[in-house]
This record gives sequence, C-alpha cells and structure tokens, in this order.
Amino acid sequence: MCILRAGLMVPVRPSAVELPERVPGPPMTAFSDGSGTGGTSYNLGMLQQRTIKSLTRAVGVGMHSGQRVELTLRPAAPDAGIMFRRIDLPVPVDIPVSAQAVCDTRMASTLSPGGDPGAPKVQTVEHLLSACAGLGIDNLVVDITAEELPILDGSAASFVFLLQSAGIALLDAPKRFMRIKRAVEVDEAKGAARKWARLDPFHGFKLSFEIDFKHPALDQTGQRFEFDMSSGRYKHDIARARTFGFTKDVELMRSRGLSRGGSMDNAIVVDDYKVLNTEGLRYDDEFVKHKILDAIGDMWVLGHPLLAAYSAFKSGHALNNKLLRAVLADQTNYEWITFDDETRAPAGFTALAPAW
Ligand SMILES: [Zn+2]
Repeated sequence: MCILRAGLMVPVRPSAVELPERVPGPPMTAFSDGSGTGGTSYNLGMLQQRTIKSLTRAVGVGMHSGQRVELTLRPAAPDAGIMFRRIDLPVPVDIPVSAQAVCDTRMASTLSPGGDPGAPKVQTVEHLLSACAGLGIDNLVVDITAEELPILDGSAASFVFLLQSAGIALLDAPKRFMRIKRAVEVDEAKGAARKWARLDPFHGFKLSFEIDFKHPALDQTGQRFEFDMSSGRYKHDIARARTFGFTKDVELMRSRGLSRGGSMDNAIVVDDYKVLNTEGLRYDDEFVKHKILDAIGDMWVLGHPLLAAYSAFKSGHALNNKLLRAVLADQTNYEWITFDDETRAPAGFTALAPAW
C-alpha cells in the first residue's frame, strides 16, 4: 500500500484567476436583521462572504479508495457557493454542495449532482468542508482528479493550512446564514441503541456531542465535548482531531472497498485494547472532537453557516444529513438572514484570522 505522508502541499503564488459565473444563492425569506438598508447597495459594515485569494494545491490518497488524487482549491465569485469539479472525466462534472447532493453516508459523506447515485461522485468531503466552516469560506471551487478527496493527515488541519496559505478574501456580498427558528430532532433505532441529533435556535453556532464506546482505550478519554465556534478556537481545539478506526473492522471495510488508503499516517488505529499509533493522541478527547469536526463539515453541505445549537448522541454522517433534510422539509423551521451591521452578528463571525 502506498501512502503519501500527510500529502504534498503546494501553495501557489497569487495570479490572475478566472472566477466562475455568478450563480444565484438560496432565496432570502428575510433579507436582513432590520438594522440596515439591504438590497444590492451594500453598506460598509455588512458581514461579508469569503473566498480564498489565490489557488492552492495538494496531492494525497483517498482514505477509502486508496487512489492518488490531486486537489486544486480556487477562488469563487460571490454567491457561487462551494463547488466540487471532477476534472478527471472526459467532460468535467460540477457537483455543488447542498443537503440534497449527499448520496451516500457509509463511513464518509459523498456528494453527486442532485444526489443522483448513478452520477459522478466526490467522496469524503467532510474534513475539507469542516475547514471551510472553521474559516468561514462561503465560495470555493474544488477541482479533483479522482472520486475521493485526499485524506491528508486524517483531520481538517491540512485543509486549514491550505486555505490559510491561499489567503482569505472578503467579497462584496452579504454572508447568508440559515437561522433555525424551532427545534428539529431526528433519531435512529430504539432503546439503548438509540442515536439522535438535533438543532435548536441559538444566536451563534455551538455543538455538543457525546459518543458511547464501551472500549478500554476510549473509556479513558472524554466521550462528551461542547464547542462554541465563537470561542475562536476551531483551529486549535477541533481541526487537528483525526479520524479513527478499529483493527477488527478493517478487514470488513476493505472487503466492501472501504479504507484502502487508511493507515496510521492518517487515522488513529485502535485494537481491542489500546491506541496503536506510537505517537498517541493529539488531544486527550480526540475521538469525540473528531466527531464534532465531522458534524461541522456535515452541516456545511448547506454551503452557509447555521445559527443554531447542534447536539447529538452517537450521530454520524447519515443522521447528520437526515437532520438537515428534516430542517429543509419545512420552511417554517428556518429563515435566511444577513447582517447589514456586522456588529450585530454573533461573536466570532466577524474575525478574519484566525477565523472563529
Ligand atoms: Zn471524519
């Protein structure tokens, strides 16, 4: 098995970059918080959308496919959203992020155009999307040369580094938020096996996650963590948490064509008793922090920040996507808003760097 350690990252010098054509964003049911003029003549104090300043590249392998993949991140125009582009196909295929684009949630979040399972896909998007959320990136074009994003070091830290080395640019358009207006909860299974995830109204974005692994190695770590994006500590407290896997599951996963690129270079590997990585854990509670990292990325398939409190017990990619679809199924659950006066936005949303 060939593994590129942490990928090869190549920040590219700023250059003239073609911006894609502007595409419409979601309809605005409430255009502003009522403090400004709104419309297309933006006042200077509005909370702006972000993209990156210049293109940047990385090379690595897909966690599940084991395939080598080149990744190029490009600036995008206001309201373009985040768009994956399969440039390895004879005719490049664009895959815009949206909750409906999620077509597979086994072990990773996979997108296809409109969620069509027969269409070209992009797999394992959650760590890059988590980094975009952490840095407040609304618009981005992501060119890839294979079906799966590179796993790099198994966390979002490499993507944060890439995005920050490209530089973060403010755009002349108001940042759109989905504000949750009432609680929405989804669950799976009953009794002791029950898992759930929910969103409650909140002026900001915070997460509370609990895992429940009856395992000697995980029992020694914190299995519950709360994180508030307004703390400004995404990069320090969450982004470095790696994905994890159990040796007993590896054979089964590989028989299903999964985890072919997984190794101790890009995952925490746990046997029946202990963590096998010689360097140990990056955080005492790295497992639950990675679940928060994933949840942040899974929520960012909306392409916009949530104003909500997320909480979950043993949730994963499938339940996280089910939660977003439940929100979107009823328009009275949410509204789209912008902030004409950024000082009225929740704490942490306005700081450019370090973001959140
Ligand atoms: Zn993950």
